Amino acid sequence: MNRQLIDPFGREVNYLRVSVTDRCDFRCTYCMSENMQFLPKKDILTLEEIEDICNVFISLGTKKIRLTGGEPLVRKGIFELIRNLGKKIGNGLEELTITTNGSQLEKKAEELYDAGVRRLNVSLDHLNPDKFKEITRWGDLNKVLNGLQKAKEVGLKIKINTVALKNFNEDHLLDIVEWCSTENFDMTIIEVMPMGDIGSENRYDQYLPLSEVRTNIEKKFTLKDIPKKTAGPARYCRIEEKKMDLGFITPLTHNFCESCNRVRLTCTGILYMCLGQNDNADLKKVLREKGLLELQKALFEAISRK
Ligand code: SAM
Ligand code: SF4
Repeated sequence: MNRQLIDPFGREVNYLRVSVTDRCDFRCTYCMSENMQFLPKKDILTLEEIEDICNVFISLGTKKIRLTGGEPLVRKGIFELIRNLGKKIGNGLEELTITTNGSQLEKKAEELYDAGVRRLNVSLDHLNPDKFKEITRWGDLNKVLNGLQKAKEVGLKIKINTVALKNFNEDHLLDIVEWCSTENFDMTIIEVMPMGDIGSENRYDQYLPLSEVRTNIEKKFTLKDIPKKTAGPARYCRIEEKKMDLGFITPLTHNFCESCNRVRLTCTGILYMCLGQNDNADLKKVLREKGLLELQKALFEAISRK
């Protein structure tokens, strides 16, 4: 039996993105409403269940795992999972990365490094404290900036994720590019998409096509498309004047299917095989009702539908 997860198009599925919680200590206006109703605990995978699922993926060829959320670093007990997965690096797993809002980094960066994490994606949409508060509702820019410095100090490589938002940061994106270049951070700009329950916010007011963003950046810098491939959906270009790579993620344009090697697990245990389709597999149900051996079979079955 083939021990690798290979989909019907011959693509080796070796990248797993795991949402470890639906909760967060921020309330970014494009992501959540202010009064979020979170899921009951029984519907959420326990950390042990997440570890079991990750281990089965690793045994079947997964080389990269990204933990995300909600905010992954606010889940109670998360560091035990991070340490345990970190021990798999060099033993099947090649990389463990985390996407975070940065709020916990000042306290936790060193622990992440010690656990084997080497790269982080940190989301940051504005460098002005009031604007940062406006967009995150509950976030404190200073705390995030201190966390980023700490992360740099301990040796973590940082990529800043910035969501491009109309009437909010469209005139500030170039400042963030400059700042990333000075700080030696990579940067990816993300097109805002209609996801999550954002309450009364109007999505139309937020939408800013990345084609416009790119044109604006090109007024100041020379952008050269480069064939850089990461395991994610970003397209990269090089800012010639800054010797810095800049990624663009346009999630609604599925222009990266041919190289897609990843699947996504929600905190409720649902595996999505493709960003563009709703087809999924309920791994929590399989794990809770039938156990680990059946989980392996369920994964092969799910990937055969990717
Ligand atoms: N809390 C962590 C963070 O903010 O980095 C991890 C989870 S967050 C859902 C992951 C990424 O999704 C962040 O970079 C965030 O900016 C982005 N995101 C959230 N809602 C989005 C939306 N509606 N459109 C585009 N990107 C979004
Ligand atoms: Fe929280 Fe990240 Fe969503 Fe902001 S984008 S509310 S930090 S999960």
